[in-house]
Order: sequence, then C-alpha cells, then structure tokens
Amino acid sequence: MSKFEDIYFNGEWWDFNYVPVCCGFTENRKINSKDISWFKNDSIYPYYRILVNPFHQRDTWRRDMARRDVLVFSDSGGLQDLRHGTRINHIDVFKWQERNADVGFSFDIIPFDIEKQRYFTGDKFDDCARQSKEKAHDCFKIKSREDFKFYGIIQGDDIASFERWYDILKDDRFDGYCVKAVGNDPVYVAITSLFVMKRLKKPVHFLGIGNISKSIVCAYLSKYYDYPISYDSSSYDVGTQYRNYEVLPNWGFRIMKDYDNHVFPVCCCPACNEWLPISDKMIKSNDYRLGGLLSLHNMYRNVSLSHIIRTLLHDREQLDGFLKTIYGKSVCDKIKRALDILDFADKHGVESAIKTYEPLFKTLSRSEEAKTRNLFGEYDV
Ligand SMILES: [Zn+2]
Repeated sequence: MSKFEDIYFNGEWWDFNYVPVCCGFTENRKINSKDISWFKNDSIYPYYRILVNPFHQRDTWRRDMARRDVLVFSDSGGLQDLRHGTRINHIDVFKWQERNADVGFSFDIIPFDIEKQRYFTGDKFDDCARQSKEKAHDCFKIKSREDFKFYGIIQGDDIASFERWYDILKDDRFDGYCVKAVGNDPVYVAITSLFVMKRLKKPVHFLGIGNISKSIVCAYLSKYYDYPISYDSSSYDVGTQYRNYEVLPNWGFRIMKDYDNHVFPVCCCPACNEWLPISDKMIKSNDYRLGGLLSLHNMYRNVSLSHIIRTLLHDREQLDGFLKTIYGKSVCDKIKRALDILDFADKHGVESAIKTYEPLFKTLSRSEEAKTRNLFGEYDV
C-alpha cells in the first residue's frame, strides 16, 4: 500500500490538514544542534505537511529533504508563471512533482487577463479549461508512480463558473481537486464549500487560503464533507519577512532590529523553548536564525489553532465562544456568517442555501478589488 493510501485508509490522513507553504526553509539553519524547520529529521518541531512549488524550489527542494512521514504537496507554479510571464513546460513540472512530492496539482491555464486585471468569461474561459484538461491528459499518459496523487485545479470566481470549469476538466483519474476562495471575506470560502458539497466526491485542497480566519471555514467544511480537506497558507512566514511574532490572530509583536528590551515568549512551543534563553542576544545581533524561529513559532500557533477548531467543530456554541476570545466583533461575525451558510446547507440542502444566500453573494462579488488581490496574494497575510 502506498504511503498516501496508508495515511488515507488508516484514518491518519486527517479530516482537514493545515499545509504550511515552504518559504526558504530548505537550507540548514540549526540552533542547539536542531534544525529550524518542521520537516527534517532533526527539526526542532516536527510537523507532517508541506507545500513546495517547482517555480520557487526547482533547484533547492528534493523529496529526501523531508522525513518519510511528511506528506509533500506540490503546487504547479501556474500562478507564478502567469505573474512572471514565463513559459513553464507542464511535462517538466509533472516529472519534477513525481520525483519530489506525494501529491501534485495540475498545471492549469488561469483564466485571467493580466493587463486588464480581469477574469475571462464566456468562450475564453472555456478555452482555458480545455487547455488545462489537455495538459492534465499529457501528464496522465506519462504518470509512472502508482502512489503519486494528482489533483486537478478548478478555476472560477463563483459557483456557476466553478461548475462550468469542473464540467470540462473532470476526469476519474484525478485523485482529488483543488479549489480556491476568491476574496478575503470568509464567506468566499463558504461559497466555494457549497460547490464542493454539491459536486465533488474526492479529496479537496483549498489553494492559497492566506489568513487564518478563512481556514476556520475550510476546517468547518470537514463536518459536512466525507473526504480529506487540506489548505495551504504562508501567513506564518511573517516571522522571516517582517520579524513578527504572532500571539493571536491579528495580534502579534514586531521584533525590531534595535529593540533593546526583553521579549518574553508567551507560549511554550519548541521554538520558544529553544529561543527563550538566547533571545536577547539574538535580537541585539539581528541573528539570521531569528526570523526562522519566529516563523516556526507562528506555524506552531496555526497548528494549535487548527487542533482547537477540530475539537470544537461539533459544538457550534463552544466554537462561537472560542472565536470571540481570539477575534474582534467584525471578523468574528464574518466567520460566523460563513459557518451559518454551511449549517444551513446541511440542514436544507445545498441548492436551497445557494438560493437563500444569493443576494449576499451578489453584493460580495461586486468587490473586484478583493478578487485581484487574492489572485496574486498567495503570500498575502
Ligand atoms: Zn512559541
């Protein structure tokens, strides 16, 4: 049995999976003889999922850099290809994914006009879906690893367009599908979830979820969807990028180069345990390992949060109470509204939920700015 099946069928392939994006953790950065990463043999804090990207890590990532118990997801680099105007060959990407990952996402033609900053509609949208399907078919033909899982990416910006793309792309040979939530409001995750509940019966991965408030809705979907759900996020990496130490969602300390006070870690995660005794010195000397440690702490915080959400999934009152303790009223209300939509869909059917919440979805879809930001916001926090 392959590793994926082993994990899947033994129930260890969790109901929902937080998948941190690999952001520059490939080089060795040790502290107290342990590596500041989560996927290596000597990691300070071992964790079991990672998303790599052949566009960014083509030359720096190899499968054997991660422990065997880490499930390695690989993006296709399609978004980066569009953004940078390069021409990546989908066969090369697929071969790289088979060598270096356990789950790969298909290389898709994103239906987005980069000059006009708008999604294609009509025939052009269908053309992109057809081209994406052809590219996936090329990959099915050369697939050599039985235990490598291949997911098809579904594009679109509302339920109707997701369905339209899916009807062209769908193929039994896909082991799962990737979906996206177009805007920053958690309700966008609920919209995508309605499509998932209505049409899909395979593992599903939410691409570029970014902020944690949206990931809570992905997690909540697992209550009503019988297949594994995963989502990737790079938001933890504010440690490396901005020297941010996250305490609660939307509440973090910023560690400055010339900060001359103590910073007291507020948690007992392995990164903080290693960091605590030497943090003053590291901050003063602007130690190159500090950013990685802060990111690892932030990641640990996200993992902890996902575990808490999992334990509260089946008690809506408790979950709402918990959300209140970590978010302000405005974000809390937005998350709760998204969860209400999924509860409604379970109780009254997906079609009825789509009809009932249509006016709300229409209001949100007018926010073009949100869509644009999200398309290019895979490192959005
Ligand atoms: Zn910590």
